[in-house]
Amino acid sequence: MDLKDIDALIIKLNQELNLIKNAKELEGFRLKYLARKGELNDCFEKLKELSVEQKRVFGPKLNTCKKELEQRFKEKQSLFDKVTEEFFFDYTLPGKKKEIGSLHPTTLTYRHIISVFNSFGFEIFESNDIESEYYNFDSLNIEKNHPARDMWDTFWLDKKYILPIGSKKDEFKSINLLLKTHTSPAEMRFMEKNNPPIRMVNMGKVFRYEATDARHEFQLHQLEGLMIGDDISLCNFKSIITGMTRKIIGQKDLKVRLRPSYFPFVSPGLEVDVECFKCHGKGSKCSLCSNSGWIEMMGAGMTHPNLYKFAKWDRYNYQGFAFGLGVERFAMLKYQIPDIRVFNSGDLRFTKQF
Ligand SMILES: [Zn+2]
Repeated sequence: MDLKDIDALIIKLNQELNLIKNAKELEGFRLKYLARKGELNDCFEKLKELSVEQKRVFGPKLNTCKKELEQRFKEKQSLFDKVTEEFFFDYTLPGKKKEIGSLHPTTLTYRHIISVFNSFGFEIFESNDIESEYYNFDSLNIEKNHPARDMWDTFWLDKKYILPIGSKKDEFKSINLLLKTHTSPAEMRFMEKNNPPIRMVNMGKVFRYEATDARHEFQLHQLEGLMIGDDISLCNFKSIITGMTRKIIGQKDLKVRLRPSYFPFVSPGLEVDVECFKCHGKGSKCSLCSNSGWIEMMGAGMTHPNLYKFAKWDRYNYQGFAFGLGVERFAMLKYQIPDIRVFNSGDLRFTKQF
């Protein structure tokens, strides 16, 4: 064996590799030279017959040669793979359709209502799902043992599991925690942080400890609104609510009526009904309004003076109104959905329709 032989072999192999035009020829080259029984391995076999000094010269030379060839072989192989892939790619095939998700009807309804409130200058306020008994009941004029507490079946929370990390147990000793049963606690939290005049709207989840059926769900979304100033009257309320409702439903001449009602945190309390937007108030053979011609839209009223006291405002200087409506309930009316339970069902056949 001579160094010149090896150099000649390397030149020969490189030339052959350059001339290869397809994957079949490349495989032949691999079998002839690079495989276990190929010519390059024969050279390594011949090394064994050489002296130690010769091995020191020929060994590294052969190793470098083998590595370079293998590298060039791989480059050529990837080139052919790419060519093969491109060759077999059929550009006439129709493309794969990507599934695009859609917004949940609750989100769509919420965004639509919020955009109307924004156009009336109401700012959005966010609040927590977990509330204290004080904010959910006491500060809203619903004291302990008040019969009105029966209106909201409550999920009470075991403090043992939900105390914030690092908090001392004593801090929460006198506080009872719950999943908020309505969005009204946001009113008090907002009033404590801001000074009048205020225009606030809050949307959040509310939770009720009750059995579910087509009209009842244990988790819903509610929207709360609050407007307070020096001289906000029931006339302002009627004007703003009528304008808003007409904009939300999209009927310029929609009739709106107020009925007396009771909620502990307002005085007087009101129910707001709108003319049925399916039968246009006719009330004949209409499943949406049960033939009454009217649809219950929201609960509302003038803010109870006791709330100003809890917020440490002067109760004689300010007045205003508050209202709350169920987002799912409104979506049910708008899209004529017969069962409230489908909203949280995760059933794509339902959500994909919007
Ligand atoms: Zn109707």
